[in-house]
Amino acid sequence: MAAPAIATGYGGRLTVDLGALKRNWQALDKVSRGALTGAVVKADAYGTGIAQASRAFYEAGARFFFAATPDEGIAVRAALPEDSHIFILSGLYPGSAPLYVGERLMPCLASIPMLEEWLQACAASNQALPAALHFDTGINRLGFRLNETSIVKRLIDSIGYAPQMIMSHLACADTPAHEKNRTQLALFTSVMAQFPGIPASLSNSAGLMSNRDNHFQMVRPGIALYGGRAVAGRRNPMAPVVTLEAPVLMTKDVKTGETVGYGALQTMSRDSRLAIVAIGYADGFFRSLSSSNNHRGTHVAINGQPCPVVGRVSMDMIGVDVTDLPRPPAPGEMAEIIGKQITIDDHADIANTIGYEVLTSLKGRYSRNYMESAAPTA
Ligand SMILES: *Cc1c(COP(=O)(O)O)cnc(C)c1O
Repeated sequence: MAAPAIATGYGGRLTVDLGALKRNWQALDKVSRGALTGAVVKADAYGTGIAQASRAFYEAGARFFFAATPDEGIAVRAALPEDSHIFILSGLYPGSAPLYVGERLMPCLASIPMLEEWLQACAASNQALPAALHFDTGINRLGFRLNETSIVKRLIDSIGYAPQMIMSHLACADTPAHEKNRTQLALFTSVMAQFPGIPASLSNSAGLMSNRDNHFQMVRPGIALYGGRAVAGRRNPMAPVVTLEAPVLMTKDVKTGETVGYGALQTMSRDSRLAIVAIGYADGFFRSLSSSNNHRGTHVAINGQPCPVVGRVSMDMIGVDVTDLPRPPAPGEMAEIIGKQITIDDHADIANTIGYEVLTSLKGRYSRNYMESAAPTA
């Protein structure tokens, strides 16, 4: 990632806790015991910084990394020691086999054309270049259709090729009671039977946290490593990783009946004091977190106190109600946008989205800092 254009220190501050990343990986590695625990670092490691996060997971013990694109794979390769193994979840991009070979990236081959191109590269270099085979057990996204299994087998047997891993992806893992989980597990098990001795991988964070039967030889957690809630309706056991703070620009007193923000959508029901905080939708603070007279928006924390957002979220700023604070915040004082008080999932629930989108939207105009907290002694 390019450095932020503005790093003068006056703006917002995103802090990534590398200690929490490591402890989250180790906690999931304990849950998955018999299986290898990978680390999914796509989308700039869910917005936390692909090089820094990959190194943290490596230091915690991870050796298997999953990026989405070859460019991300190259970034992981550059960040990590030689003994790391990097899978590319999006598969093989047309014409890109030489790049994968040069960078030692393993595509998760998901279609017959991808497989044919990879096997041609193997033949051309006279090597069994490692790759995973991705089977679609019902998500209908990437992956071979199950009725293609015999073609896949015929193609790889024709040159005596053995894949590094076979994998599939669950559509409803965040809802463990969903029937589709059982269907996909059964179908995946039937695919595995046709590839005896090949390591298998089915689970994302939610899949591994909700059912041991999903573990097989490799698990692929993403969101839980970054502190997000993986399984719906359960207490989230992961340590928060990201803190986002933004400065108060000014405070302002407004009278009962005055409106705040674009569209005049929220009318103050009492004389109020507002703080104008320098974060907006251009920073990944969604417009759907806005408040209006008939819709409660999200809140931020100032001095540890929750303060509701008032009116619409603008491009560069929000108004928050600080009337009830014992002391009005001074300009430059930091409001906590995401952190211990307000999690990514709190915002996600209000914005009708998921923590994944909150995290991966954090690429705005703030500085990104890294720290390493010590393990809590609770
Ligand atoms: C993104 C992704 C994961 C990680 O999912 P989380 O829900 O973030 O744990 C695992 N496997 C595949 C194929 C993915 O695309």
